[in-house]
Amino acid sequence: MSDERSDLERMLDDLFPYRHTSTTFTRIPDQAVDRDSVLADIAQMAKAEDAQGDAGRVSGSLYSGDHEHYDFLTDVFGEFAHANVLQRDMYPSATKFEGEIVAMVANMLHAPVPAGVVTSGGSDSLIHALYSYREDARESRGVTRPNVVLPVTAHVALRKGAHWMGIEVRDVPVTDEFIADVPAMASAIDDQTIAVVGSAGDYAHGLIDPIPELGALAMERGIGLHVDACLGGFLLPWAEELGYDVPPWDFRVDGVTSISADTHKYGYALKGTSALIYRDTTLRARQWYSVTDWPGGLYLSPGLAGSRSGGLIASTWAAMVTTGRSGYLDRARALLIVNDTIKAGIREGIPELQIIGDPIFMTSFQSDVVDVYLVNDALKKAGWRMNALQLPPALHFCVTGPNTQPGIAEAFVSDLRVAVDYALEHAGQPAESGAMYGFGATPSGRETLTSAMNGVLEAMHATAPEV
Ligand SMILES: *Cc1c(COP(=O)(O)O)cnc(C)c1O
Repeated sequence: MSDERSDLERMLDDLFPYRHTSTTFTRIPDQAVDRDSVLADIAQMAKAEDAQGDAGRVSGSLYSGDHEHYDFLTDVFGEFAHANVLQRDMYPSATKFEGEIVAMVANMLHAPVPAGVVTSGGSDSLIHALYSYREDARESRGVTRPNVVLPVTAHVALRKGAHWMGIEVRDVPVTDEFIADVPAMASAIDDQTIAVVGSAGDYAHGLIDPIPELGALAMERGIGLHVDACLGGFLLPWAEELGYDVPPWDFRVDGVTSISADTHKYGYALKGTSALIYRDTTLRARQWYSVTDWPGGLYLSPGLAGSRSGGLIASTWAAMVTTGRSGYLDRARALLIVNDTIKAGIREGIPELQIIGDPIFMTSFQSDVVDVYLVNDALKKAGWRMNALQLPPALHFCVTGPNTQPGIAEAFVSDLRVAVDYALEHAGQPAESGAMYGFGATPSGRETLTSAMNGVLEAMHATAPEV
């Protein structure tokens, strides 16, 4: 028991590192705190927290990493941060920015028409797509017990959205190549299926599902196909232009009816935006909402959000036009070379690890020789922040801008070799991160883990306990 308490204390220090150094507010202060001191405090936190990512040893998360770019976007954001784009008569610039973001993303994805929306992020795009499919299936086919058919690797936000909207999730295991098993997905479809989903690439492994086969299946069954390109949407088009072998996945594939692509990932916009593009305006219109008989007046809204900041829309537009096709191509070239270096380093020098598939912009690997969570423990100590996967245990390194600094890819490969040696030497010992994933393997373990995870959510919404 005493061990659990010290674990809790340690967890609290992780969650609330500033509880030792700055005031914890639990009520609005009587006297206004002066701006200079707030700015100084915040700048110090930001500097400390940015250091790890800027050093180039973090997988995913940051994407651009160019602070001049961020400063520019912050200037643009500031011009409209306070503006509520719900009031279009006051802020017609938002109509220009939003329409042009949609048009530019639709064009990049080879959509036949520029029909889309800007949402608050990848999860938001996926959930809006699910909503549109559910409404469309209900209106046009009378579906009352909706289900969606997913490869088990499809992003978890789809499960969250389905959970919230009363849509049954039919998770289908993937093939030995870790991509969607199309015949198995075909068997999971019935007359209440609203859509199937494929990824380009999937969050865990960066792999592209067989979208042409899924498109053919969707058309045959008269249902939608959403392609989740939240991660790959702003990279795969450039990889294709650079000559990489990218299988077909966008609107050029028949049967693809919607695609999500995150502007706040490889689109290099500030956090809080994504694009959801539909093949046609009819499907998009399923998410329109307008009310004519509310005492508050006539109301119309394109999605879940009410008020939205003009700053995010303006800065997303600015990120795209100031990066330009040439900028996206240059950044993609640099990222893909880093990933090629990592893949080659593993294949040539670390036979204990098996790369999962042949991903283009990230590398995930498993092992039948070492415990990859022990590998992760050693990488962590060397300053790397990997993404740990499960079912099966694996790690991934998703390559982003900060990782393209000279020497990073080579340093990673050599630290990875050392980490695998550490795991070989410590074989059989429990890994720090391993236990958590182990819990998930049994029903009672899952219950324990769920309650611990819910405890973390409670803590994340609390103030720091007194020291
Ligand atoms: C990141 C990601 C999402 C979810 O995006 P958020 O912006 O985190 O909500 C969805 N799908 C894939 C493949 C992703 O990588």
